[in-house]
Amino acid sequence: MAELQFFFGTMGSGKSTQALQVHHNLTQRGLRCLLITQLDRTEGVVSSRLGVEADALVINPTVDLFRLIASMHSTGHGLSAVICDEAQFYEPAQIDQLARVVDELRIDVYAYGLLTSFQGELFAGSQRLLEMADTRNELQVEARCFCGRRATHNARLVNGRQVYDGALKVVGDTSTDTVAEVTYDLRCREHWLAGKDDARQRALFDELGLDQLHIGDLPLESERGF
Ligand SMILES: [Zn+2]
Repeated sequence: MAELQFFFGTMGSGKSTQALQVHHNLTQRGLRCLLITQLDRTEGVVSSRLGVEADALVINPTVDLFRLIASMHSTGHGLSAVICDEAQFYEPAQIDQLARVVDELRIDVYAYGLLTSFQGELFAGSQRLLEMADTRNELQVEARCFCGRRATHNARLVNGRQVYDGALKVVGDTSTDTVAEVTYDLRCREHWLAGKDDARQRALFDELGLDQLHIGDLPLESERGF
């Protein structure tokens, strides 16, 4: 029985590594699999931090995945499985199309993605996967916050400082970015939230035209009525 399986985890939880492993294991057995991805650091390649990579079909949000997969399935020996990386970036409608791939074409779908953004909210694609998948599996490889607790949140850092605003689809490739360095780091909930207070403080200092050296001159946070 074909299934739509959703695997989620934070950054660094091995999603791409597992996607590549599933792809490798099935193709080794002579099964025809389709590996697809959305925005990634390298166009057309799914790569893992452990150094493995494979060619992938890069799709954009307007592609009808059911029609695409159905047409590929109708050629040769058909498709046995579809493996989706960066599934958080898929449109909800594309997740529904993947459900049809399972139900109508009887093809297994493995979807790998982040659950929440650096803003701490569900990605639309991941929300739809949680709603539609046959199985929901959290990948747990003991990714840790700097404090040692289990990392549950993804933090976006600009020039080393955590931010909560900005475009959802910005990846860590900074080779052409001369303005600001965008990186990501893992946090426990407490430290992900702590960055929010810090960002609010910085915004206030900017607004008042002060620098951090004047911090002692300002009233305590509680006295400002936060
Ligand atoms: Zn922490």
